[in-house]
Amino acid sequence: MKFSELGFEDQVTEALDAMGFETPTPIQQQAIPAVMQNKDMIAVAQTGTGKTAAFVLPILNAICKRGSSDKVSTIIIVPTRELAIQIDQQIEGLSYFTNATSIAIYGGGDGKSFDAEKKALTTGADIVICTPGRFISHLNMGYFDTSGVKHFILDEADRMLDMGFNEDITRIAKKLPMERQNLLFSATMPPKIRQLSSQLLKDPITINIAISKPNEGILQAAYLVHNHQKIKLISSILTGKDHDYILVFSSRKVTVKEITKELNKVGLPAKGIHSDLNQQEREAVLLDFKNKKIKLLVATDVLSRGIDIKGINLVINYDIPNDAEDYVHRIGRTARGDNTGVALTFINSDDCYNFSKIESLIGNEVRKLALPEGFEEGPKYDTSYKKPFRGKKKFNKKKHWKPRKK
Ligand code: AMP
Repeated sequence: MKFSELGFEDQVTEALDAMGFETPTPIQQQAIPAVMQNKDMIAVAQTGTGKTAAFVLPILNAICKRGSSDKVSTIIIVPTRELAIQIDQQIEGLSYFTNATSIAIYGGGDGKSFDAEKKALTTGADIVICTPGRFISHLNMGYFDTSGVKHFILDEADRMLDMGFNEDITRIAKKLPMERQNLLFSATMPPKIRQLSSQLLKDPITINIAISKPNEGILQAAYLVHNHQKIKLISSILTGKDHDYILVFSSRKVTVKEITKELNKVGLPAKGIHSDLNQQEREAVLLDFKNKKIKLLVATDVLSRGIDIKGINLVINYDIPNDAEDYVHRIGRTARGDNTGVALTFINSDDCYNFSKIESLIGNEVRKLALPEGFEEGPKYDTSYKKPFRGKKKFNKKKHWKPRKK
């Protein structure tokens, strides 16, 4: 199938040509005709499948047909600021030849950005991409006329529910006109997503593109390594190798800060991104990484979903994510599109059991590599030991960076 068979308006087709998009991805082939028929839809699809364009293209097409109005017609709710910005950027490209306007609205900005958002909401940007909390703040002020809303989209809905946004989503939906199209995108389909879908969607089409399998272009391997040797291992992996852009993941922001500091100490210039940074700082770090000014970025799982940065050819999992699905999301930051990439995971003795869960999820065993010469022997891969959960753990610097006493 070609995009030309989907019957888009000329302005949309021109943008597709300009962006070099010829063939719709599987989710686009299934979703675009349904969205064009104004149907409600639930789609289980991960990032990297082309799901953003799957809803943006038919909506832009509808805006071209109707003509731009002075009221907001489309609301896209997303879990994170980064995703809001990224979707807005895709819309900017795809709407280049149309009159459609869009704005990303998210928390953490200053008074000036709140005023700009208010202006966009009152003078009618066609498409608003927003995080739930910030949007509720605007709704509560009473100036946003929701009567023009025709399309309501939830992206990464499972993530939003995990983050506790269920009530906010319901509150937003209640303020919108009853007659509207609802589209729900989620990377997974747990019961709470089915429940949300039954609350919000009318007679939806269901599409399932989800694969809990990493992209085949990713070469995966793992090291069994004690915490105190992990920085040395990164240093050994990177020294003299031709890795262009590297993303290091850790589940906890406090560890991200420590890893960043330690990498810089051993002569590997790195920046960290985590939820303690303010909005400007996060954006600046992300932009520097996108613009290739930073080669080595250390991040929490904030970046593991949805962020599309080209050219990352190595992902290092400094630890094991809490949620096995997040492993697939983390390593999916490399090998975007047709490229290939490498994903290396560091497993300590506490993480063997959780890593075995990941191996079951992805349906194969990840090759365990021998540690380089000069390294203390790592732990055995003992998947029978399940680390007891003792609530929120405090970061113990000594445990992380000093060799264990024999
Ligand atoms: P997404 O899953 O929406 O995050 O999209 C992943 C990447 O695929 C983005 O960089 C898109 O610009 C790109 N993309 C989406 N649809 C297509 C297409 N039909 N052909 C080529 N690239 C695409």
